[in-house]
Amino acid sequence: MGKIIVGNWKMNVGPLAQVRDWARAISLPSAVEVVLSPSTPFLSTVSAAVEGTNVKVSAQDCSSQPEGAFTGDVSASMLKDVGVSYVIIGHSERRQGHGETSDDVRKKAAQAIKAGLIPIICIGESEQERTQGKAMDVVRKQVMESIPDEATKGKILLAYEPVWAIGSGKTPSADDIRQMHGHILSVAAQRTGLAPERISVLYGGSVKADNAAGIMAVPGVAGVLVGGASLKLEEFNSILRAA
Ligand code: PEP
Repeated sequence: MGKIIVGNWKMNVGPLAQVRDWARAISLPSAVEVVLSPSTPFLSTVSAAVEGTNVKVSAQDCSSQPEGAFTGDVSASMLKDVGVSYVIIGHSERRQGHGETSDDVRKKAAQAIKAGLIPIICIGESEQERTQGKAMDVVRKQVMESIPDEATKGKILLAYEPVWAIGSGKTPSADDIRQMHGHILSVAAQRTGLAPERISVLYGGSVKADNAAGIMAVPGVAGVLVGGASLKLEEFNSILRAA
């Protein structure tokens, strides 16, 4: 299978005209699955702009509830309805900034799967947890608690995003990435009973044009989740070429 490259635009890309131009400016190596993740109001614009190409669209979050009196929330089935295929769940900016727990992440991922979306379940340790030697245990717990039962039937997509690497310019060594991805694959296989080839683990955290090829060559890395570098079109296109 080709690599998966997710561009997480966070709350950075707008207004509408810019979103449309950017979505159309992505150049497409055919063996790569490209996923763009704009802010919620722009999801249908991006879906329309990439129609007929192999670019897919991801939301940055969804509700843990299927429907009802939840002001401000957006359900997974609403996202599906406007052409979304993926949804990022449990990004550290949601876990830390919005107090989301692995319990919330699991419920959201369950809703996503029920609606026919592919959840990108994010996990990763903080800097303090890594320096204290707790990274493996923290990530094991997040994987075990964040994957819903609904994920045990199909395929799973996880993203290993060490919190200290996000937006910092720092990345783990290739050896650390290989070791952690192997660990995540084995814990996720244990949690779901799925064969490891049905589980994909992306790496995210300070991926740039100049380190993308090296990171994607590490065994167990199914692709990359890109934040800052997805906001620079030329750089994002070079990451796609590296894939
Ligand atoms: C992210 O926020 O998911 C991310 C990977 O950001 P960056 O690439 O900027 O580190």
